[in-house]
Amino acid sequence: MKTIGLIGGMSWESTSKYYREINEGIKNALGGLHSAKICLYSVDFAEIEKLQQQENREKTAHILAAAAKSVETAGADFFLLCTNTMHKVAETVEKSVYIPLLHIADATAEKLVNEQVKRVGIIGTRFTMEHTFYKNRITEKYGIEVIIPGKESRNLIHEVIYSELCLGKISNASRRSYLKIIDQLRNQGAEAVILGCTEIALLIQQRHTNVPLYDTTQIHAKKAVELAIQHLKEYDRLD
Ligand code: GLU
Repeated sequence: MKTIGLIGGMSWESTSKYYREINEGIKNALGGLHSAKICLYSVDFAEIEKLQQQENREKTAHILAAAAKSVETAGADFFLLCTNTMHKVAETVEKSVYIPLLHIADATAEKLVNEQVKRVGIIGTRFTMEHTFYKNRITEKYGIEVIIPGKESRNLIHEVIYSELCLGKISNASRRSYLKIIDQLRNQGAEAVILGCTEIALLIQQRHTNVPLYDTTQIHAKKAVELAIQHLKEYDRLD
């Protein structure tokens, strides 16, 4: 089994979900007492969030590159950034190590392509919704149109992420607001909605809406499991 490098703590509320999903995935695939081989480097999110506000890409990239080097040295075969937002500096981080990055937008877009979704809504932090690093990758590389909510809705989604979800607070009022925004995205023509922030699935699950949801944490974790055991399945086929 390959060793999965996780760069987490952004926030740890969602990193704990990654840890659980990956271990459950390995257990389901291999059975018995099998569990995932993981090297986890968890950052202090307060430092990262401050740098995000200052738009200090250089320093955030530096911290995450150091984390990537740590998991590489510890034996990771590939690594994940357990956040959508910080993929903003993915390219720099990727270049600082030899092991490959499993990009969260690629994992998500591949699933959308497989399920023939052509037009998708996205909710996440303001950075993920408004900047080009995420949306453009999905459109340019996979031909999927990405729709974002209006300004007021974007502000609300962003606020809830940082002042509630990253602190482990789950509120019914915020869930109702999010569901309303998801409905609006559907009315704008979205066939499905990407939960483009790794904490959102702590608040909204598929049972809350009939709009198809793409939970990036779950998709990313599942893809990591597949990559970690892919070569074992290839051996099986040779037998
Ligand atoms: N975990 C979040 C994401 O997926 C937001 C926290 C962060 O800024 O990294 O974008």
